[in-house]
Amino acid sequence: MEAQPELPSTEVDTEMEVEDDQIPPSNSKDPPPILRLDQSVVNRIAAGEVIQRPVSAVKELVENSLDAGSTSISVVVKDGGLKLIQVSDDGHGIRKEDMSILCERHTTSKLSKFEDLQSIKSMGFRGEALASMTYVGHVTVTTITKGQLHGYRATYRDGVMEDEPKACAAVKGTQIMIENLFYNMAARRKTLQNSAARADVHSVATPSRLDAIRSVYGVSVARNLVKIDASDNDPSNSVFEMDGFISNANYIAKKITMVLFINDRLVDCGALKRAIEIVYGATLPKASKPFVYMSITLPPEHVDVNVHPTKREVSLLNQEIIIEKIQSVVELKLRSSNESRIFQEQTMDPSSSSPLATSQDSQKDPSKSGIKSQKTPVHKMIRTDSLDPAGRLHAYLQIKPSNNPERSSCLTSVRSSIRQRRNPKETADLTSIQELINEFDSTCHSGLLDTIRHCTYIGMADDVFALLQHNTNLYLANVINLSKELMYQQVLTRFAHFNAIQLSEPAPLSELLMLALKEEDVAAEDNENDDLKEKIADMNTSLLKQKAEMLEEYFSIYIDSNGNLSRLPVILDQYTPDMDHVPEFVLCLGNDIDWEDEKNCFQSISAALANFYAMHTPLLPNPSGDGSQFYKKGKSSSSIDGQGNSSKTTGNDTTEDEYENDLLSEAENAWAQREWSIQHVLFPSLRLFFKPPNAMATNGTFVQVASLEKLYRIFERC
Ligand code: ADP
Ligand code: MG
Repeated sequence: MEAQPELPSTEVDTEMEVEDDQIPPSNSKDPPPILRLDQSVVNRIAAGEVIQRPVSAVKELVENSLDAGSTSISVVVKDGGLKLIQVSDDGHGIRKEDMSILCERHTTSKLSKFEDLQSIKSMGFRGEALASMTYVGHVTVTTITKGQLHGYRATYRDGVMEDEPKACAAVKGTQIMIENLFYNMAARRKTLQNSAARADVHSVATPSRLDAIRSVYGVSVARNLVKIDASDNDPSNSVFEMDGFISNANYIAKKITMVLFINDRLVDCGALKRAIEIVYGATLPKASKPFVYMSITLPPEHVDVNVHPTKREVSLLNQEIIIEKIQSVVELKLRSSNESRIFQEQTMDPSSSSPLATSQDSQKDPSKSGIKSQKTPVHKMIRTDSLDPAGRLHAYLQIKPSNNPERSSCLTSVRSSIRQRRNPKETADLTSIQELINEFDSTCHSGLLDTIRHCTYIGMADDVFALLQHNTNLYLANVINLSKELMYQQVLTRFAHFNAIQLSEPAPLSELLMLALKEEDVAAEDNENDDLKEKIADMNTSLLKQKAEMLEEYFSIYIDSNGNLSRLPVILDQYTPDMDHVPEFVLCLGNDIDWEDEKNCFQSISAALANFYAMHTPLLPNPSGDGSQFYKKGKSSSSIDGQGNSSKTTGNDTTEDEYENDLLSEAENAWAQREWSIQHVLFPSLRLFFKPPNAMATNGTFVQVASLEKLYRIFERC
């Protein structure tokens, strides 16, 4: 079957996803009156969010079928889902008396009180999917419950059942049919119209997971998979069970496909995905991007239940430990899935135990012997191999051939096999990057790490410091320093694997450079240096054009052949840097990068990006702080003339007044955006990814301002 399901998408949406209650204020002049939206409009907006494409409707329906305990589900799709989506299951069905409220918003059988969220095991719980579908399509439900002689059928529109359910013949379970999806959303229908019709998928109860993968992803994928599992049950460490399939060395793909289920819920976990990519990159040839199917079960309270309808990224308790365990198992599996290669490689490794013993061990029990008998796993070995500039390849080549002729011929074949399998340049690159990563890994302050992982963000104390609470302590944390360091670490961790932010219009480097150079000496009033500046700008432009290929491949900074900047990397998902800093960044790329030494080069580019993406204070002063003077000053001089009379009537002043207002609302907008990003992007990411350097404990980035215990003691004395 040729169906290419739109399962986990790997694209990153560079637009911000804003939840209803987190919308940053919009950029308008006079506050327009606030009106209460008509309920039907609210419902339609919500429906558009939950059901974005036909595939989202299919997903919701299949999830409902699974929640209903079905063992067989069949899906029929016509016209890419626009004409018809029909999902039939053999689950427990729906009671007749529930049919009237079935499609109202927030009606669910899966959740009744807030606490249930902590241990939710079903796929749905928001009670929104069916309701949403009735606002954007025509829904017909046919269902029968156990022990009934006949079933019932009802049709729904805009959340309401159109008529009493009618008795009808039915087979066990429920059939939900959606016709004319998006009939009332012309634009969306049009954009979807071109999507090709997809094949029907039919799943039955008996097949294995491998069968399911084969029927969805095709034979060529299924043929090249090996089974994998791992688990841990140490409450002080991690508690999880994982099993799944990963592609072997014969599988070739340009992009990683990762199908991840956590507690049977289809989710994304960027950190795990990257971790697995790293292992493949270090173990298999350059082009090899893996296919990974993984199912992880964890105690439900260890997973951050994500209540947002479309957000699929999850975070786990003890995520790093779990990821490391999975990495080792993946690596081990890759090695043992190809015995001959292991044998050769291990022969070459002077420090490993007898190759024969290892290979026998791993045949007996690959999952156990490997971890013990094998030395450091690949992903760690590269990190710690900082003394050897050429990386592991170099180590292999330095071995003196032994006198044994058999061994030495083996050596030659291994050399060539290693040469074939590894792109030496890539290995070397990886080493310098790993050295840089290792530097911040090894200077991580464990106390701060704990504070950041478990703190609560209270708010901004001023323009630079955020107030945080951890246990009974309050801290002030410098968000500029924190974000800069986080960006730096993320550039290195995501190295060569960035998604891109497309600039709405390509920006000519020469203009950006001129802007930055002029800004550098605003003090100099005359233009006599302009020639010089133009020369510098030209030189830097041609330098950056020369480096364009590297900048694109590794950092997703795209400079076209005409010297225009058109793409920048996504360093943190859902975050776009302040574009006011682009000129400064480009100048820094031109002036401050050491292009000669590989490691210094990567380090300095990462630092330049970090400085650019850091959450600096916006250029306009904060209108709600001391900066408010800045906007008032202009206003008072324009509205009052020499005699103290109001001069608002004259045309000129009105324009000036408007200007002030625009500036003010632009400033308000910029500051609100920044605060939103700090709360919703920076701190969640810090919790997940950040390794706070030791220096931050003492350089004023983190300051403890109060301890409640001490405060209580003071109060007691009062
Ligand atoms: P949720 O899944 O979040 O509860 P939905 O709108 O998807 O919300 O479904 C509402 C309710 O309808 C479910 O809680 C369930 O009781 C019932 N339901 C929906 N689909 C089925 C089905 N295929 N079989 C049985 N019950 C279903
Ligand atoms: Mg549901």
